[in-house]
Amino acid sequence: ERVVTPGLRYIEDGLEEKSFNYLAAVCLGPGGGGVVYVDVSTGHLKLQECESEVDILEAFSCLQPAELIVPSTLWDVPIGADWLKRLKSLAGEYSCKIVEKPFKRTSKESLQKRITNLLPDEKKDLGAGFEFNSPVTISSAEVLLDFIIDNSFDNEFSLARCSSLNSDRSWVIDAATRKNLEVLATSDKSSHSLIKFLDRAKTAFGSRLLAEKLLSPETDLSTIERYQEAVYELFSSDDLVGELRDCLSSVRDLERLSTRIASGRVNPYDLGVLRSSIEILPKVRELLAASKAELLVELSCSLDPLEDLFKILRESLVVEPPPKVTDGGIFENGFNNEVDELRLISRDGKSSLAGFEEQERKKTGINGLKVRYNNVFGYFIEITKANLSRVPDSYERKSTLTNSERFVTQELKELEVKILSAKVRQINLEKDLFSELKLSMAKDRGRLQITAQILAEIDVVTTAAYIARQYNYVRPVVNELGVTKIIRGRHPVVERISGADNFVPNDTLLEVAEGSSPKQTFAVLTGPNMGGKSTYLRQVGLIQLMAQAGFFVPAESAEIGLVDRIFTRIGASDDLSRGESTFMVEMREAAVIARRATSRSLVLVDELGRGTATSDGRALANAIAEWLHDRTGCRTIFATHFHELSSLKDTRENIFCLSVGVEEGKEEISFTYRIEQKSASKSYGIEVARLAGLPGEILQRASDLLDSNGSEIAGQPLSDRVVTKVVKDERSERLVKSLESLDLNSLSPIEALNELYRIRSL
Ligand code: ADP
Repeated sequence: ERVVTPGLRYIEDGLEEKSFNYLAAVCLGPGGGGVVYVDVSTGHLKLQECESEVDILEAFSCLQPAELIVPSTLWDVPIGADWLKRLKSLAGEYSCKIVEKPFKRTSKESLQKRITNLLPDEKKDLGAGFEFNSPVTISSAEVLLDFIIDNSFDNEFSLARCSSLNSDRSWVIDAATRKNLEVLATSDKSSHSLIKFLDRAKTAFGSRLLAEKLLSPETDLSTIERYQEAVYELFSSDDLVGELRDCLSSVRDLERLSTRIASGRVNPYDLGVLRSSIEILPKVRELLAASKAELLVELSCSLDPLEDLFKILRESLVVEPPPKVTDGGIFENGFNNEVDELRLISRDGKSSLAGFEEQERKKTGINGLKVRYNNVFGYFIEITKANLSRVPDSYERKSTLTNSERFVTQELKELEVKILSAKVRQINLEKDLFSELKLSMAKDRGRLQITAQILAEIDVVTTAAYIARQYNYVRPVVNELGVTKIIRGRHPVVERISGADNFVPNDTLLEVAEGSSPKQTFAVLTGPNMGGKSTYLRQVGLIQLMAQAGFFVPAESAEIGLVDRIFTRIGASDDLSRGESTFMVEMREAAVIARRATSRSLVLVDELGRGTATSDGRALANAIAEWLHDRTGCRTIFATHFHELSSLKDTRENIFCLSVGVEEGKEEISFTYRIEQKSASKSYGIEVARLAGLPGEILQRASDLLDSNGSEIAGQPLSDRVVTKVVKDERSERLVKSLESLDLNSLSPIEALNELYRIRSL
């Protein structure tokens, strides 16, 4: 019996097409731990090894499985570890179902054997080489497989492949950064995200792979260049992209379909879908045959055209196979002699029926006599009430309706047996034949699954080329020198929302701090709210990420120095569900950055130290900035409203200042969204408040407070002074007037002193 749980759902259980649905098992113990997880609908088993509690929680937040198996006991010992408690409460937030199971000690060899058995022939080598570094992850994998098998039909579950996340060559975009850079769409359907904009893939499995690629970018230069080469070749040929995309349009979710085929859970309609999906394979191969880029050559060579399977399906199935086996009519004429014969008999039977009807009409003289069929009575003769007097004695009455009566005759009964038994035999025969067909497809599940994986790659690389053309992206030159130079870069999403013409492109230069000469390593970005700071910060992060996923980027030209990770701390939001204040969240994220960032990382900070009193907020921001610059030397953009942090550049040679452009009109200010290489001269609190439509009286009162307190408002230090041009003008006018009105020749010293007091109070 198959049990559907949140983590054990297949395509027919109504899965979201474009995302994965994970069942995971997690454990941390002696010698490390990790997360083992699988999407049963694709059969891809994955392992992510983790060293610490923080890693486990992070991995969980990224994965957001639908169901999570945690240990009730580990090797017969109950565990009450802290990580487990935190994990459970985190699971609650993501509405992930928790299942508790005892985790038992087992051997790696037996696990590898078990995995190997579940893999298709073509992938058996993966199972033998599937390495688990800690005994705890071995137990996790066992528990995971047990859970699946216990809840499945016999032989229903199989794997398509298995892999462990290789942390050397790619890094996983952490949960905070996904959210901060708006990489992944949130559950809110109207939200904008990078992936939503870039996902123009033609197939569902292409969409899933595209998201996977953007969420775990490469760090290896040659892998990225190899990918770019392929994108570039497609990018340079409009026809090719169009034709490939046309082909892919007729491909359905082959990845999930092959999982169903593997377990035999398919109906004739599904195999019809399979047929039209694999029909395009030779064409795709042919389109890619002349490619020069290594990746494309490899993809086209390894793409199995599955012509043998297509031939079987073409010769066996009718053009539009029915969804139910019991409907019959699955097989094409000429495929099986017996089916054809039975079909003839029932067809003959039907024409005999017509002949019988005609014969009875003549015999009885009733022109309205009809032979009909329903599931309850089978075939019968229907005669209206008006003609009842002419019914012969040989007619046997079956039932009476309001306007008519139903009869059968011996001859009709015989005809019925002939027709129906042929039909039943035909359906039974078709059932058997269909089972055979299913089996023959299931035998080749490995080939189908590999084909799906290759098509997914082709879809994603084609999509990357398509977007690049569509949105005017360029191929970035990636380097390991740590130099990032973006000319007229754009935010891929904001640009689309605001319209390409309204978006102001900006340059970026960031260099790793190396050698003796000063470098532009650390940017202090200041400027008014709503001036475009966050947009700029995210733009730099997203361009970096896209480049390392092998995609082209929104810029006029770009050199991208590879990074080992992107760290972000953006925006201030209370994480109340976890009982943490804004400030706690800020500091937690800052702690991760300070501890983990290396000289090869990119750090993007927006507003640090907001959630506490200004003085300690500023002090912390300052100290964190110094640490990042002095200790880590990572490429950093540090956006802050403490504009005195700009002075860090005076004492540290790798720090430079950026600010967002402001144009001051007579009454109002406006933002140019241009990032300029200088520090902001002042805050613009009151102007921004005015733009936001705050009542004039409030603005005036704020100006007055500013006025009467001289340079400070309500105990705030100089840094947060809100100075407005309007206020400044009025005040200087008054000052000038009172100075001009003084008669210096007639003033006594004491009067002069009093006058000075008065002027200062202005
Ligand atoms: P800040 O972080 O300084 O408060 P944001 O980056 O949130 O400002 O930008 C505020 C708004 O300005 C954004 O919603 C966006 O619509 C617009 N904007 C930002 N940068 C640009 C730009 N380069 N070109 C055009 N509009 C921009």
